[in-house]
Amino acid sequence: KSYVAAEDRYEKIQYRRCGKSGLQLPLLSLGLWHNFGNTTSFENSRQLLRTAFDHGITHFDLANNYGPPYGSAEKNFGKIYKEDFQSYRDELLISTKAGWDMWPGPYGNFGSRKYLIASLDQSLKRMGLEYVDIFYHHRPDPDTPLEETMGALDQIVRQGKALYVGISQYTADQTARAALILKKLGTPFIIHQPRYNMFDRWVENGLLDTLQQEGLGSIVFSPLEQGILTSKYLQGIPADSRAAIEGGYLDKNKITPRVLEQVKALNKIAESRGQALAQMAIAWLLKDQRVTSVLIGVSKVSQLHDNIAALDHLEFSREELLAIAAILKQ
Ligand code: NDP
Repeated sequence: KSYVAAEDRYEKIQYRRCGKSGLQLPLLSLGLWHNFGNTTSFENSRQLLRTAFDHGITHFDLANNYGPPYGSAEKNFGKIYKEDFQSYRDELLISTKAGWDMWPGPYGNFGSRKYLIASLDQSLKRMGLEYVDIFYHHRPDPDTPLEETMGALDQIVRQGKALYVGISQYTADQTARAALILKKLGTPFIIHQPRYNMFDRWVENGLLDTLQQEGLGSIVFSPLEQGILTSKYLQGIPADSRAAIEGGYLDKNKITPRVLEQVKALNKIAESRGQALAQMAIAWLLKDQRVTSVLIGVSKVSQLHDNIAALDHLEFSREELLAIAAILKQ
């Protein structure tokens, strides 16, 4: 059946300005790292995108190597885009990235001009798009001069292949250096994509301050620590969970008894707020206005509904914040 987006989609979610840019992002964005490759159900992927957009989630985040296999998330997204979303192109923010291993040889990884420009051309073909809204350098490259990588981002915008650019996984110091170069070039650099969740708080030691100083926004990934910050692992490892996937990105050895103790204690606080732990973990990130958007991944439509409902209760009392901080210190 052909797709018509829910009419009330913009009444269901709020948007936050991305740093000092003109762009606003939904409080939740949808990432396609997992659950959009060739090993998952295409129909499920389609339902995830439709449900997200029906709730005002206008931003879909991809990368060249999302799958498996590499490239397949962009390909599958392209198919769904063509069938369902083409007429909504101007209501959508689509991002992709390059920076990790993508094809063999010296030109398919890291941060050379050669790699970035070729990779985005491939991504646009796979997705069937003329441009992306945001193109990211996916991780810092220790060997390529930052001027070269940033120069490639600048050129990509001038070629009309991306409207804005961003960086991911850069430290505070690397971010400040990148910002200086891009300011000189006049490139619309507006966003950083760091990892941030209750169990991984490195961005609080300088990065968020730097982003604010530079007028940049942030979209934070793995907000649920890939699912650990939910109640799903409290009774063992469910067969359909990310930790059960052989060779997947979530190492089940990360789910230690100590971690489970913390999750249990956090879950109690969430319950006292009338929320699921996943919802509290999302709300906890959004309490900081420097977090523009929380970038979730979901394997089921029901998880998407659960996570969207986090937005119904974003406030924290002082006592709740102190109790959470005490658990995270353990
Ligand atoms: P999360 O931490 O949100 O983990 C998502 C997983 O958690 C889901 O696939 C699901 O796993 C589980 N989950 C989600 N919601 C619920 C819920 N309500 N109840 C129970 N379980 C739930 O995010 P990701 O690690 O997936 O990252 C999100 C996005 O961030 C990616 O898609 C990608 O776009 C981006 N990213 C960027 C990176 C970068 O380097 N820039 C690196 C990593 C991610 P299950 O399969 O077990 O159901």
